[in-house]
Amino acid sequence: MMERLSGLLTAFGRSGLVLAYHDILPDRRAVYPYAVRESTFLRHLDMVQALGLRPVTLAEFTDNLLAGDASGLVAVVFDDAIVGVHRIAMPRLAERSIPWTLLPVTDRTGVDPDWWPEADRTMTRVEIAEALDSGAALCGHTATHVSLPDIPPAKALDELRRSRETLSAWAGREVRDLCYPFGHHTSDVRQLTRDAGYRCGYSFTNGRCHPATDPFAQPRLAMHEELSPAKFLATVIRPRCTWPPVRDLRRQPPAVNA
Ligand SMILES: [Zn+2]
Repeated sequence: MMERLSGLLTAFGRSGLVLAYHDILPDRRAVYPYAVRESTFLRHLDMVQALGLRPVTLAEFTDNLLAGDASGLVAVVFDDAIVGVHRIAMPRLAERSIPWTLLPVTDRTGVDPDWWPEADRTMTRVEIAEALDSGAALCGHTATHVSLPDIPPAKALDELRRSRETLSAWAGREVRDLCYPFGHHTSDVRQLTRDAGYRCGYSFTNGRCHPATDPFAQPRLAMHEELSPAKFLATVIRPRCTWPPVRDLRRQPPAVNA
């Protein structure tokens, strides 16, 4: 069956997949939104391998996407660098020699994330260095996890530029890809992202990445605990044309009580 499915994936043309995880939890823990238990995460990795997809860092994925062909590639990424990724995902990925990508919020290391009250603390600088030693690559996610459309352009540019420079110094190589915090972006934010030296911007809208899509409005796939192997399979083989297009997205204003 898997051979047939693997063959099916070749029908996806030049598109590829970015799997967006957040926290990875021990199986005994209660899950919260966007956190995934270890056994679920491992089943996802099993499926990736069974389907014959080739895991690469997001930087290598973007290299291929911008060169016109990301077919057969998958990038496993972890938004916000939550400590469960260091404790659980990192050794599992190393065991399987799977390249992966971490998205630290550069001014918010080793703290409880103020943008996500349910989550565990973020990784410390030492833990991020250990992740780099273990084979992780880094990707931009701003300095403070601000919603970029909500702030003045000069401040947004500073968030984007400063975090890119910091991550590039930590990684010892230039970081040029960004995932927008909360997936929020507008045409102005996409232009600021380009101005800040990035070459690509990934949203939090579900879909397959394709070279014909605006490089600053690429989709990802949100990973969560309810993605059983069957649902995970249905998600990764879902044709690109059936996903909604990536659109401008910003924080909704609070509802006004009548
Ligand atoms: Zn985030």
